[in-house]
Amino acid sequence: MDELRQRWEQIRENIATACARVGRDPNEVRVVAVTKYVDLDTTRAVLDAGIEDIGESRAQEAVPKFEALKGRGVWHFIGHLQRNKVKDVINRFTYIHSLDRYSLAKEIQSRAEKADKQVKCFIQVNVSGEESKHGIAPEELTDFAREVVETCPRIQVVGLMTMAPKTDQPEEVRPFFRRLKQLQAELQKLGDTRLQVPHLSMGMSQDYPIAVEEGATFLRLGSVLVGRQK
Ligand SMILES: *Cc1c(COP(=O)(O)O)cnc(C)c1O
Repeated sequence: MDELRQRWEQIRENIATACARVGRDPNEVRVVAVTKYVDLDTTRAVLDAGIEDIGESRAQEAVPKFEALKGRGVWHFIGHLQRNKVKDVINRFTYIHSLDRYSLAKEIQSRAEKADKQVKCFIQVNVSGEESKHGIAPEELTDFAREVVETCPRIQVVGLMTMAPKTDQPEEVRPFFRRLKQLQAELQKLGDTRLQVPHLSMGMSQDYPIAVEEGATFLRLGSVLVGRQK
């Protein structure tokens, strides 16, 4: 697994370089290693390499891994979350990056209440407006965020998440990241302490240096860091 360590070194260097270009502190940027394409052994190797944030997008596959690894690491749920999976997710995952509709917020609230937990969530925003993407429309974000904090006290809104369109021209995604940062500022301007949303979860393998330049605090890196088996 030396290869993994090499990729990790390289990525950290790229993050540091991107931070230097815009005067950011690399310690503000956390990397979530997305292990959805790889098996249990590779997921364990990621943890063994000292990477502790693990991202998974399907509960059916993540839960057995989590159990086999006895909860090592900090787990991030990054995929579309079905309501009937919430109960499996909130007891294992520290972060949910994909809060994208009110019915899901209600289910998280009710399950978290029963489990006597607070759940850290990112609101997923569909900045690009692509129909294939989940997420709240930018113009509906303020109302949605207000409604969540008013009615779901078990949900701690820690930030905003977005997925940029797929492209082989990384520069094309910059406006989408910039827009997410603006939306963050708009929420912060409301002056509600529950909507300080300090974090931005944006940037994947294809575009993470640009996401760093635009203010990402969580990167979600699959292929470029962990590789792919499927
Ligand atoms: C799969 C996935 C990633 C990682 O994708 P890569 O392009 O392999 O880095 C990041 N975020 C989400 C929401 C994903 O589903």
